[in-house]
Amino acid sequence: MSKPNIALIGLGLIGSSLGHALKKNDLAAHVSGYARSAETRQKALDIGFVDSVHETAVETVIDADIVFFNTPLSVIKQLAEDIVPRLKDNAILTDVGSVKAGVQKDLAEILDGRIHFVPGHPIAGTEQSGPEAGFAELFEERWCILTPDETTSLIAVEEVTKLWRGMGSEVVFMDADHHDLVLAITSHLPHLIAFNIVGTAAQLESDTRSEVIKFSASGFRDFTRIAASDPIMWRDIFLANKDAILEIMGRFSEDLTALQAAIRREDGRYLEEVFTRTRGIRQSIIDAGQDTDTPNFGRDK
Ligand code: NAP
Repeated sequence: MSKPNIALIGLGLIGSSLGHALKKNDLAAHVSGYARSAETRQKALDIGFVDSVHETAVETVIDADIVFFNTPLSVIKQLAEDIVPRLKDNAILTDVGSVKAGVQKDLAEILDGRIHFVPGHPIAGTEQSGPEAGFAELFEERWCILTPDETTSLIAVEEVTKLWRGMGSEVVFMDADHHDLVLAITSHLPHLIAFNIVGTAAQLESDTRSEVIKFSASGFRDFTRIAASDPIMWRDIFLANKDAILEIMGRFSEDLTALQAAIRREDGRYLEEVFTRTRGIRQSIIDAGQDTDTPNFGRDK
């Protein structure tokens, strides 16, 4: 395929970052954009990460060779139902959703054989949302997981892979269910813990009139950053990945109970063993180039 026409459905953090990255790396002949609100569409045009915006998803995709869904997970099925009958033959749909098995199943029911779907998930993001949050470098040196199955067109996989590599990502392939289990532990459970601990702290502050938030030290502060993530996006992730999350939460609760028992028994050896092991895991993440070893994540305080 020569340089494709690309349509972005959803112009928030990920959609705007895609627009910036496609432009920076000169990967698209034309980038069209659609978001639910006129305000977001206008901002996208003003910032300039799309060449055109449209009032409906259908108008946005009419000339598209490749369409990216960058919306909350719960609206992808409806949007796909609207646009699939209007797409060009052999157009490619892809997405960036944080859970993969559900969207793969939904799209399989809609696709008519003329259109290809390549499910994707860039492991890159921030806790910011909206069209002003994006930047061209978001995906550079970050993983992008694609989860094609045996029915997925190899040519379509190749085209989508080429785009992600062009934006600086390292592309890996995975089975959708496996992706959902891995992400349940690496991303979804940590977010759930953050939402929970920040909620508990806020409640404690109001119940006891103690200054929990005011004196929040770095550990808690890191949780508040994660807990500031978009509520709609995260609602959809937990509902879409229910089975894997419940499985991982079960294991987490068992391990937490073991720590609780060790503290009650004053079993310092057990605590030290666990904490030593987890410190090693942190080092292996740094060694794998997935984080910086700068103190406090590079913050100045
Ligand atoms: P976001 O900043 O909140 O942007 C969401 C976009 O979707 C907005 O432009 C919104 O339009 C649009 N939208 C919502 N409902 C719509 C509808 N019914 N029709 C058309 N457009 C609609 O979200 P995001 O962080 O970019 O996340 C988007 C997707 O990326 C999610 O599926 C998420 O799982 C995935 N993801 C996120 C991250 C991350 O760190 N944020 C990382 C990897 C993958 P309006 O502005 O008009 O409301």
